[in-house]
Amino acid sequence: MKIAEIYPSIQGEGLLAGQPSVFVRASGCNLRCWFCDTPYTSWQPEGSDLSVEMIVAQLAEWDTEHVVLTGGEPMLFAESIPLTTALRELGKHITIETAGTLYLPVECDLMSISPKLSNSSPQGPRDAAWRRRHEQSRHAPAVIGRLLAEYDYQLKFVIDTPADVAEVEEYLQAFPEVDRARVLLMPQCADAEQLGRQATWLEPLCRAEGWRYGARRQLEWFGAARGT
Ligand code: SF4
Repeated sequence: MKIAEIYPSIQGEGLLAGQPSVFVRASGCNLRCWFCDTPYTSWQPEGSDLSVEMIVAQLAEWDTEHVVLTGGEPMLFAESIPLTTALRELGKHITIETAGTLYLPVECDLMSISPKLSNSSPQGPRDAAWRRRHEQSRHAPAVIGRLLAEYDYQLKFVIDTPADVAEVEEYLQAFPEVDRARVLLMPQCADAEQLGRQATWLEPLCRAEGWRYGARRQLEWFGAARGT
């Protein structure tokens, strides 16, 4: 599978924020969010084709229990199945970060699902073809339902404006089984400065309306640097 990078860092988002982890970043995505913070795995995918054995050998460099399989979209690659089986055999804790549009029967301890709202659609004048594909693919309720049923999960929504919060509320009506304590609202932002600006309204809104605010600590800790 095509891999953009493998690196040790600290999980900056979600219920496991603060957890030292090794990140395996698959390159390739079936969506094209305009705000994608890893365009080198979506708009201009980069990386090398690595076998499962090569990935596992690289991971052996670090004695870290937690492995995060991220992207891009790791569920795009059938190799994620034998890779997660190998990680399970090594006793690793496995988080998979996915947009929840594709299903694979993977081994996973935390399915970290970031469904893409209408605010994600690419808007550039040359993006018409991708806009159509993105809109056709970004919402896959049958996949979301299956992931929620089969795995421990968290749902992370990217919020740009207060209207997006109303869209999350509407979205969740189709999934009454969702535990609200596992839903995080994260600010859409590209750097620590924008994160600070978005937090000034989103954090109080979350407190007032009973949502969990999803910090993006990696931007505070490392900036928007690759490999962090
Ligand atoms: S789903 Fe994730 S990796 Fe794919 S384009 Fe959107 S933000 Fe980027």
